[in-house]
Amino acid sequence: MNYIDFKQGQLHVEQVPASQLAEQYGTPLYVYSKSQIIKNWQLFKQHWPKPHRLCYAVKANSNLAILQLLAEQGAGFDIVSAGELKRVLKAGGDPASVVFSGVAKSEDELRFALQQGIGCINVESAAELERIQQVAAELSQSAPVSLRVNPDVDAKTHPYIATGMKANKFGIAMADAMPIFKRAAALPNINLLGADCHIGSQIMSSEPFLDAAKRMFKLVEELASEGIKLSHLDLGGGFGISYEETDRLDLENYLKGVLELANNYPELTLMLEPGRAIVADAGILITRVEYIKATDDKRFALIDAGMNDLLRPSLYQAWHDIVAVQETQNARGQLVDVVGPVCETGCFLGHARHLTVKSGDLLAVKHAGAYGFTMSSNYNTRAKPAEVLIDQGSSYIIRERETFDDMVRGERLLKRT
Ligand SMILES: *Cc1c(COP(=O)(O)O)cnc(C)c1O
Repeated sequence: MNYIDFKQGQLHVEQVPASQLAEQYGTPLYVYSKSQIIKNWQLFKQHWPKPHRLCYAVKANSNLAILQLLAEQGAGFDIVSAGELKRVLKAGGDPASVVFSGVAKSEDELRFALQQGIGCINVESAAELERIQQVAAELSQSAPVSLRVNPDVDAKTHPYIATGMKANKFGIAMADAMPIFKRAAALPNINLLGADCHIGSQIMSSEPFLDAAKRMFKLVEELASEGIKLSHLDLGGGFGISYEETDRLDLENYLKGVLELANNYPELTLMLEPGRAIVADAGILITRVEYIKATDDKRFALIDAGMNDLLRPSLYQAWHDIVAVQETQNARGQLVDVVGPVCETGCFLGHARHLTVKSGDLLAVKHAGAYGFTMSSNYNTRAKPAEVLIDQGSSYIIRERETFDDMVRGERLLKRT
């Protein structure tokens, strides 16, 4: 069961009709279900017994209230910037439960993370390792690190979100890993804790995950035989969700498979970094149809949400289900291109959809809880939408709709006398 579903022909988020939320808060509007987020988190937790750990990938949805909910569930966090660390701290997260990923961490970011007592820095290159040594030495600290290794598996996902192959900017190639681990073990201000990998996002089968895991376990063994004993292995995130509600990743099968592999390594704590799988299906973007435009061979629904609000279709040709908030009799409808107001041909949310819509109708873009708001921008000087969280029968605004003043804050006119 999903907490975002139709009841009596009306799309609801938990007990609240989407149309009521659109009236109350305006559109475009992001709406999230608290129960769905908790349910998704619990599914991981159930199949991932302690001492193994889960670090929610903040970049999927970094709203403070959502981080707070997850912190209350005992989540750790995977961050990719000092800004995300500040969010976690503000939301009540424990810095010791945070892992810091990212290929180009600045000195300032590393210093801040170490001063806050970060749990682990996931090192992405030999050069970064040297920089961490230097920053930690200046602070007279020992920096907890893991080395991100590229297991070189093909995750069979969109090239923009495949990260685990040799040709990617992420991580250290498996073939180059040993000398860098040895260097890390020898550096005076480095506390080498583990190894990590993250092979990509929206991966729909267990195979590449298990393939990567096997290669990582083999590395752990090779390191042990060189006298380097790791205490954790972080296998990253990337768990695919079912945007089309047809095929789905058998998550339980994967988690069981990894835990079986781990049986031979009882001292190793395993970590995962799920992002999308926690929040994607817990969110929708509600939008209103402004106009219908019909040409000889096409019908367009021109809506009030655009690529600045939800970038995934434009950036990755990602497919999101788009439904009328009020179910229509003629379920198949006409073929419609659902396009936004931004002045780019690439500004669309869906092509060739069967929808019966007229001007003024409300649509909902589903599975918009992950990489939705976090990728939004002010392109075309469009204010970012509001975000609302539903908890049982009540709605809570967790981010106000931006105003024009918000958008130009910090800008200065030139001085004229
Ligand atoms: C983005 C990212 C994740 C989360 O990926 P999902 O596909 O959202 O699960 C986890 N770890 C790292 C290092 C990432 O960059």
